[in-house]
This record gives sequence, C-alpha cells and structure tokens, in this order.
Amino acid sequence: MFCEMCFTRGGYELKCVSCCAHLVLKTRPDKIRAQAMLHHIQKYPQSPKRGEILKIVQEAINAGI
Ligand SMILES: [Zn+2]
Repeated sequence: MFCEMCFTRGGYELKCVSCCAHLVLKTRPDKIRAQAMLHHIQKYPQSPKRGEILKIVQEAINAGI
C-alpha cells in the first residue's frame, strides 16, 4: 500500500503502512528510537498495525535498503 506522500516524499502519512515503515527505517540502527517511533505511530487511530509496519521494515532490511 502506498500513498501520495510515498512518491513525493513531501511528508509522511501515518495511515499509510509504507510511510510508517519508512519512518521506522529512518531511525536505524537506533532501536530505542525505532520503538519510540512505533509507539508514536500507534497513537494515531487510523495507523496501521505494528505487526504490519514491522513486516515491511523487516522486508526492507532483508532487501538491504
Ligand atoms: Zn505513504
């Protein structure tokens, strides 16, 4: 799933799992910041589930991004 922000990178859409994963990936390799970012994202009622975000984060890491 992608949103307009994914392509323009003018910002981040917290309803978009891809944007959320990008935000988490930006914190690497700081795991504490990553957890804080996930926590922050989860505060939004329409945000994707933590597991969905982490799945994309893991895929990106596996792909070497
Ligand atoms: Zn997006």
